[in-house]
Amino acid sequence: MDLGRSSDKSLLATGDDPAPILEENAFSRSPFLLISDHYGRAIPRVLGDLGLAESELRRHIAWDVGIAGVADALCKHLAAHLIAQRYSRLVIDCNRPPQAPSSIPRISESTVIPGNEALSREAAEARRREVFDPYHRRIGEVIDRRQREGIPTVLVALHSFTPVYAGIARPWHVGTLYRRDSGLPSLLLKTFRAQGELVVGDNEPYAVSEETDYTIPVHGEGRGLLNSGIEIRQDLITEEAGQREWADRLANILTDIEAQLRAQALLRT
Ligand SMILES: [Zn+2]
Repeated sequence: MDLGRSSDKSLLATGDDPAPILEENAFSRSPFLLISDHYGRAIPRVLGDLGLAESELRRHIAWDVGIAGVADALCKHLAAHLIAQRYSRLVIDCNRPPQAPSSIPRISESTVIPGNEALSREAAEARRREVFDPYHRRIGEVIDRRQREGIPTVLVALHSFTPVYAGIARPWHVGTLYRRDSGLPSLLLKTFRAQGELVVGDNEPYAVSEETDYTIPVHGEGRGLLNSGIEIRQDLITEEAGQREWADRLANILTDIEAQLRAQALLRT
């Protein structure tokens, strides 16, 4: 089995490997810039299956189950720009600082990732250079261009979380994920809670930290943008119907929030 240790130079060398970045509505003027770090579960051909069974590669350790369908429908509803990563977070996690041990996980939950063990520095560097860097460079470029063109940007990072973690059931249907932004998350929480039937997590099941996040600290906080992550529980969006339902719900909520931000003159470039 080729686990990529001999292919340090070029990772995405074959014509079968998709481009890392998926984009929709690249010239949108919607204020919402939708980011999906864990959208895909592609693995570069030279890495094989990373030594994992297909059943493992379909689990949340490889990607955010259900979020691709939500992101696709939501960006259509809002006509908003979506930037998403096609490669699995087992190749390199695009929401971790590259220097963090969990950037290329040797173990995820209790699953050992054979293709990530004893990885050479060069092989790790190739994953960063060909998957992580172009993705984050593109997000930065898009924010730059929007600023030049006077388009306000509200960064929304879309994620999903497992219903049970370490044997404990998570009660929230949806959560916000933020640290320094006090504008967007409070509006999201208020609007989610106004729906009545939702159990809403305020920085649950996670909060943002330097060790476990990259997109919000770097592109949201680092650029001074209104920003929040939205985390949806995976069992609600495993099937297409749930994905559509949540995309509809989020589209309504974000449209409502856009109006509130405009009314308060909070949409700035
Ligand atoms: Zn995620």
